Amino acid sequence: MSNSKIWLSSPHMGGNEQKYVQEAFDTNWVAPLGPNVSGFEQDLENYLGEAVHVGALSSGTAALHLALILLGVKNGDEVICQSMTFSASANPIVYLGATPIFIDSEPETWNMCPVALEQAIQDRIAKGKKPKAIIGVHLYGMAFKVDEITAIADKYEIPLVEDSAEALGSTYKGRKCGTFGNLSILSFNGNKIITTSGGGAIVTKTLEQKNKAVFLSTQARDNAPHYQHSEIGYNYRMSNICAGIGRGQMEVLDQHIALRRAMHRFYVDLFKNIPGVTVFSEPNSDYFSNHWLSCVVIDTTKANGVTSEMMRLALEKVNIECRPLWKPMHLQPVFSDCLYFGHTVAENLFTNGLCLPSGSNLSENDRNSISNAIQSVFRV
Ligand SMILES: *Cc1c(COP(=O)(O)O)cnc(C)c1O
Repeated sequence: MSNSKIWLSSPHMGGNEQKYVQEAFDTNWVAPLGPNVSGFEQDLENYLGEAVHVGALSSGTAALHLALILLGVKNGDEVICQSMTFSASANPIVYLGATPIFIDSEPETWNMCPVALEQAIQDRIAKGKKPKAIIGVHLYGMAFKVDEITAIADKYEIPLVEDSAEALGSTYKGRKCGTFGNLSILSFNGNKIITTSGGGAIVTKTLEQKNKAVFLSTQARDNAPHYQHSEIGYNYRMSNICAGIGRGQMEVLDQHIALRRAMHRFYVDLFKNIPGVTVFSEPNSDYFSNHWLSCVVIDTTKANGVTSEMMRLALEKVNIECRPLWKPMHLQPVFSDCLYFGHTVAENLFTNGLCLPSGSNLSENDRNSISNAIQSVFRV
């Protein structure tokens, strides 16, 4: 990746990653198992606390796929999913032949609206199609309304899958994201707060669930000297090389969070005197966001007529990457036939919002360039 461009979120190595990778080479653990895989899982379990179990996998998408399998989602089932998210939150529903039901966001956390969620559940139950699972997402590092969403999941006895791909290190009421769902998932893709180049994890409450996920992720081999299978398996385990990168990254995770949060404060300061622009921030002290990405929403009528797209294009011209917020799934061509519950909160966020460069590796020079470019867009 070139240095001249200012990226939204690029990999940021801490230094010890290569040491763990070298160890893997030195000991010939160049395979989807080995000391780095178990070491990385242990590091994550220690970090998350709450007596959880972690299985390291090849991606967050694979983790979601296995989570839905563990919950027994099958062909013809319905699964509820937050609409405003990355497509990987919803795709595994379709891998299983099940149908996603999409839910609007609420304006405080931009995540699943509890009111629309309950309407959807009641509607589907009335039609004899009780949803098999609920997938909630902590977008951009901001926890969803955990108390409200888990209360509804509990009330209707529907398991909650927590997509914490963007929220490693974020907390809600002092508890870490990734520990709230019946099952939770993490991602270590190249653009996430820590990366293993590509990778993910499933977080479970019991060791049996973790063992089952690992079993399925390694081709579902029965305990026999020959290759014997009683179930369909997957090739989803994390490689010992990638896990070595992960172990190095765990040493700098808290530093990355501090630096991303400093980027967020930089934008809060920058936009303080620019009317019509709101920086996405924690609604109250229950929330602590890792601020994986810093985002803004623009009220064009108050912002000198500047739209989010005008701002994106102006920054692109000077080699600064910005990106619209996630386009809601119910507006995606591939999901156009799916049911949707809610109003236009997610749609309006998509229309008026923008993600800004947020990496933990941005320099003072980068911040000056960003500041100058943004001030010239808004002519302040
Ligand atoms: C990145 C991401 C995923 C998928 O993770 P991968 O490791 O890229 O497969 C899932 N959900 C959300 C919200 C994400 O941002």
